[in-house]
Amino acid sequence: MARSVVESLRPRLHTPLPVIDKDRNRLMHEALERWFGFSSLRPLQKEAVDAALDGRDALVVLPTGGGKSLCYQLPPLVLDRLTVVVSPLIALMQDQVDGLRLNGVPAAASHSNLDAAGRRRLNALIDSGELRILFVAPERLFLEDFLQWLSKCDLAAIAIDEAHCISQWGHDFRPEYRRLAELRTRFPGVPVHAYTATATPRVRQDICDQLQLQDCVELIGTFDRPELTYRVLPRQGLIDQVVEGISRHGDAATIIYCISRKDTEALAKQLQSRNIAAEAYHAGLAAGERTRISADFRAERCNVVCATVAFGMGIDRSDVRLVVHAAMPKSIEHYQQETGRAGRDGLPSECLMLYSGADGAKWRMIMQRAGQEYGDPEATKAQLGLLSHMQRFAGRAQCRHKTLSEYFGQSYDEPNCGACDVCLNELDLVPDSVVIAQKILSAVARTGQRYGASYIIDVLRGSKNEKVLSRGHDQIPTFGLLKDLVAMRLGNYIDQLIDDGSLVRTDGEYPILVLNEASGEVLRGNREVSLRSPKGGLDQPARRRRRGSSGASPARALTPVEQEVFDRLRALRRTLATGMGVPPYVVFSDATLEELARERPSTRSAMLDVKGIGPKKYDSFGQQFLAALAEEA
Ligand code: ADP
Ligand code: ZN
Repeated sequence: MARSVVESLRPRLHTPLPVIDKDRNRLMHEALERWFGFSSLRPLQKEAVDAALDGRDALVVLPTGGGKSLCYQLPPLVLDRLTVVVSPLIALMQDQVDGLRLNGVPAAASHSNLDAAGRRRLNALIDSGELRILFVAPERLFLEDFLQWLSKCDLAAIAIDEAHCISQWGHDFRPEYRRLAELRTRFPGVPVHAYTATATPRVRQDICDQLQLQDCVELIGTFDRPELTYRVLPRQGLIDQVVEGISRHGDAATIIYCISRKDTEALAKQLQSRNIAAEAYHAGLAAGERTRISADFRAERCNVVCATVAFGMGIDRSDVRLVVHAAMPKSIEHYQQETGRAGRDGLPSECLMLYSGADGAKWRMIMQRAGQEYGDPEATKAQLGLLSHMQRFAGRAQCRHKTLSEYFGQSYDEPNCGACDVCLNELDLVPDSVVIAQKILSAVARTGQRYGASYIIDVLRGSKNEKVLSRGHDQIPTFGLLKDLVAMRLGNYIDQLIDDGSLVRTDGEYPILVLNEASGEVLRGNREVSLRSPKGGLDQPARRRRRGSSGASPARALTPVEQEVFDRLRALRRTLATGMGVPPYVVFSDATLEELARERPSTRSAMLDVKGIGPKKYDSFGQQFLAALAEEA
């Protein structure tokens, strides 16, 4: 019904999509099995594919690893038509094309770095009329020749990957994405689908407005990643903390994010001196060196990379088991995106952030300097706002999964996630919590409930700055009462009191702290308060997440025998991938290898039951993996 309305509104230059209502589910599942070897769709994938088959516009927001690619890869195969996928990064496109090609899907990419083989493949697929999925960089898309050609194709849809890049309210604005606004008029009648992993409501709206999405199906997935364990610790001896983190995960793939280029190099050197083969990666390296490192990482020749955020979107190795932030990132959006690179295969993984009060100051300086350079005070203010959310996240003692979900506008109801430092009880209870809380609340009361947290911190720490002196607050009894606490810790405690409802921070541009009824109860000693502080270090070994019912339900750990089989399959995967010049995970994902190691199939049909193995992949690799499985352990 919705479709006929849409049709009457839009001039249709393109042939209408075939209506495939009756056998839709069957066709969808056949294509899914045939081209991808999957037996079912994940939450929201079905809805996204339906929207595409109905010819409707859609905005799909799924977390990293949620399975966005399949949403735009499946419809063209069901409809037997071409879908154009706009993607910002060449490396990312190339990996997807490699992966699709191994599944036998007629896919190609068009970008400025295309080699002769890539060009031949593209032309052959175009000539034969078989091309179904074409990845293209935004600047390519608008070349006149290309547009001409495209306007003659019968398009199933235009998909925009990383769609948040179109919004200046987002954290990754790319001016070249702005031109995508023209698509609507250039290709009237062709459904436009926007995909992104992080989008606050404001960015979502901006995407819809910019792309002029009409009667759009909005599909917003759950942001929570139950398989990720979050830990946030003060930085105390970075190298030891990082080595400890890495040792919890064997020689698994690890990304360590640092703020500056210098930091990445220093840390990589220190790790090397501890016999960990780490590489530094940043935008200051020669292009060839950068390509080599990402290639080594993808090919599993190198497992630990110390990087700036430049090591980013192109890296979708799915078996990253640990993401370390050696310093605090500058926004929760960045944190979510960078930690999202862990565990894309759905297996349990860890995100460890090591922060210090100095990180915030460093970012503030960088932002203010950039602000002066570009003369855009509004943008600077927006960035500083994002930074303060990040700082608060670090110091809170509320479940990390809950805090992240709520930041992205979603509720989180698990009382104990079992996968964060707070819920795993890794934070210490501060012994004199009640007294500290009373001192904080009393400072707020004595200064008249008129100031923000940083001023209250100044008073409690006995700072004799001009503001404090001129207001006479050096004379009140709470002045200097908590001078032994560092400002950052004190700020954490204030946030914790706000979290547990014992104190209120007002909204608005200049938030101030005010008391409520619960504050009175605390001051009178009638309300319990438990402040938390991080332990000096982690003394417990890795605790893998086990939760039965919801989420990706990570399976039990492999037995030693299964682990041996898994390692053997992994070695075989690496050999095959190297021979073909593709990254190992496009051969099979870790999740597929784990299932193979557990199930040990010995026939073609048993092998086809394994997730991620379709007929085409069986033809390419089945025999070799069967042979490896049959080997005596
Ligand atoms: P995103 O683009 O949202 O970050 P991907 O599309 O890369 O996520 O998918 C993440 C992983 O999940 C990939 O390894 C992919 O093969 C796998 N996957 C996607 N959809 C399914 C499905 N329906 N069943 C099983 N695995 C899936
Ligand atoms: Zn938790």
